[in-house]
This record gives sequence, C-alpha cells and structure tokens, in this order.
Amino acid sequence: MEKGFTITYEYGENLYVNTTNRCDYACTFCLRHNPSSGGSIYNDNLWLSREPTRQEILDSIEGWDLSGYKQLVFCGFGEPSYRLDDICWVIDRLKERGKKIFTRMDTNGTGCLIHGRDVCPDFAGRFDMVSISLNTDTAEKYNALCRPRFQDAYEAMKDFAREIQKYVPTVMMTVVDTISPEEIESCRKICEEEIGAVYRVREYIRD
Ligand code: SF4
Repeated sequence: MEKGFTITYEYGENLYVNTTNRCDYACTFCLRHNPSSGGSIYNDNLWLSREPTRQEILDSIEGWDLSGYKQLVFCGFGEPSYRLDDICWVIDRLKERGKKIFTRMDTNGTGCLIHGRDVCPDFAGRFDMVSISLNTDTAEKYNALCRPRFQDAYEAMKDFAREIQKYVPTVMMTVVDTISPEEIESCRKICEEEIGAVYRVREYIRD
C-alpha cells in the first residue's frame, strides 16, 4: 500500500473506506488536529496524500473478501459526504457485480449544506444505515465543539437525520460517553423523541 494512501482498512468486524480528507468542520476532538496521530488506532496513516478516484475506491474494496465483514463503512479522515457522488457510483458497481454487503455511512450530517441540495434521495437503495454524530444537545455547545463552516449546521444536521429516515432503513445518532449523564439523557431525547432515530452512546477511544 502506497504510504499516505490507505483507502480501505479493517477495524473490528467491518471494512472501512477512507474517501477524503476534506471536512466542513474543525472539531476540537478531531484526530486530524493531532499531527502525530496520522490516523490513530484505526490505521497507521489515514491522511490521504491525494483523494482516490472512484475507480481506485472500487478496486480497493474489491481487493478484500467482503463476505468476511459485517459492514462496509464509508467514512473518511474527513467528511465522506464530499465524495457522495463517487460513493454512490461505487455502491452501484458493487451491486451490479452481485456483491452483497451491509453498507453504512458515518457522517456529520451536513451533506445537504455541502452540496447545496437535498442529497437524501441519493441514499435510497444504496445505504442500509447512516450514522450521524449528534455530539451534544444545543447548537451553542455544538458550534463550540465542532466549529462548523456553515451557519445553522446543528439544525441542518438534525433536519438531515429526520429526512434521511425516508430513504435509509436504519438511522443512528451518536454521542461519546465523555459528556455528562444529563447531557447523554438530553441527547437521547433529541435523538429518539424529537428525531426518531436509533441512539448510541459510543465509548471514547483514546488516540
Ligand atoms: S466532522 Fe469528523 S472529520 Fe470533520 S473535523 Fe469533526 S471529527 Fe474531524
């Protein structure tokens, strides 16, 4: 594997697809801001020296025996929505070739802002699951933590989480267990009662 060009990697029972370094956020906790990490525990070097083409992404995925994984997870050392068109193309090719695997995207939920259009219909028939980082329970805290480029990103993320449920069977929203129990409960209400998504409190994984 070319250094600085890890497109796919195993983690746990899943195969992850690293599609981009680009991100519209600058989260205070992001591994990208730790120059020594180069990718943390997940992989030795996830910072892509250049973005892979859609064909390179497909070739990299097809280099693995997909029957050995539970999920194919499109993420990035950035926000995968930037590569949505290419990811959809890749999934379409996999389906054409009869490859059966559960597909998931891990996203900050701002694909519509990034592309300036409603991208939710693009997920239909392609993704089995979307996991969205909720992170916290107020826009103020969210802005301080995630430092989004776009205004009203918190509301846009929640709108995306509502809308995408029309097109994707499982929509999950996540927080990390470093927030207070009160905030975990407040986020649960937002996720389950306000939005109607599946809630998951993720364990913080130290770099
Ligand atoms: S959304 Fe993800 S990739 Fe982007 S800055 Fe935040 S943690 Fe990093």
